Amino acid sequence: MPLLLTILGARPQFIKAAALTRAIANKVELGWSQSIIHTGQHYDAKLSDIFFEELHLPRPNYTLKLESSERTSRMNEMKLGITNAINACTPDAVLVYGDTDSTLAGAQAADALGIPIIHIEAGLRSFDLDMPEEVNRIATDKLSSILIAPTTTAMKNLHNEGIYGAFLTGDIMHDNALYFTKEMQALESKSVLLTMHRPSNVDDLPLLQSWIDAIGDWCALHHVDATFPVHPRTKKSLVALYGSVWSHVLLKKNIHAIDPVGYVELLRLIKTCRLVITDSGGIQKEAYSCETPSVVIRRNTEWVELVKAGHTVLCFEPKDLSGCANSQFGRTINGDDALYGNGEAAHDILRILSEKLS
Ligand code: UDP
Repeated sequence: MPLLLTILGARPQFIKAAALTRAIANKVELGWSQSIIHTGQHYDAKLSDIFFEELHLPRPNYTLKLESSERTSRMNEMKLGITNAINACTPDAVLVYGDTDSTLAGAQAADALGIPIIHIEAGLRSFDLDMPEEVNRIATDKLSSILIAPTTTAMKNLHNEGIYGAFLTGDIMHDNALYFTKEMQALESKSVLLTMHRPSNVDDLPLLQSWIDAIGDWCALHHVDATFPVHPRTKKSLVALYGSVWSHVLLKKNIHAIDPVGYVELLRLIKTCRLVITDSGGIQKEAYSCETPSVVIRRNTEWVELVKAGHTVLCFEPKDLSGCANSQFGRTINGDDALYGNGEAAHDILRILSEKLS
């Protein structure tokens, strides 16, 4: 029975892994088994444990406890832990998702041991090398043996870098969003969902304050409430900006700060609001999967087809927020254009792995 060692470390990866884990269970005849290593990159219960529970992910077979807070040392700790796990379970392939430090650490550890690497979400590019994720993606694609691209744009990006032979499957996160919202109704509400956690937005305190002011002013003008699940990194900056009363300050601006929520609750919030304002890669796609328009508060996106189709607009600076929000609020989105496949990407991936590896 072929064995995959799946590397997980961060919130979006737990979500992505749920789709493939379901596919492995549904396609027993393909004979795949999976071991999981949790690198400890996101160790906060609200960013980690809750996902294993509600997504029915098996408990990790290996869990690392990272000692260092410095990035290079953490990468080295991850690589060592993953190397030990590979040596212990001798997998047929190592599977990595996305673009986090855990992704690259997994790819580098497997490469050093000569184990085939499967990269799911290959070929995504923001063309912004200031983003650590962009560097992680490019380096991981170069090391990988089986590249699974979610979009035709991702396939083109790989061709442009001289990487051929990738597989186009649709997006595994779209599989999940469709699966977990099957039974949810899109209620008529007048609310907004806000998330922001990218260092470029939240580590720069004056910029964060400008975003909060711009979003708060727009909400007040339109008598709209924004729900804001606050990432721990963002919370740190909000405390630095406004002190311990930060959530009261936000509330006065119609922004209701809450703790990070579980995946199903997050999807419910997306499905029932009229606009998503986010800097998250995953949430901009989930907005589309839930047929909710979005404003992405970044200068670029890897998910360019959302912008081309008008499902999302990029908002470069706080001064543009009002215009962008006006253009998207309450817009009707129709997911029939199947930008990210038909919800069966995980099954396609498993079939490809069976053809290539077993
Ligand atoms: N998410 C969640 N609860 C939250 C915020 C986000 O479950 O309070 C999920 C969300 O649905 C998405 C994933 O976390 O699938 C995205 O993670 P994040 O925004 O941290 O990372 P990115 O997608 O930008 O890499």
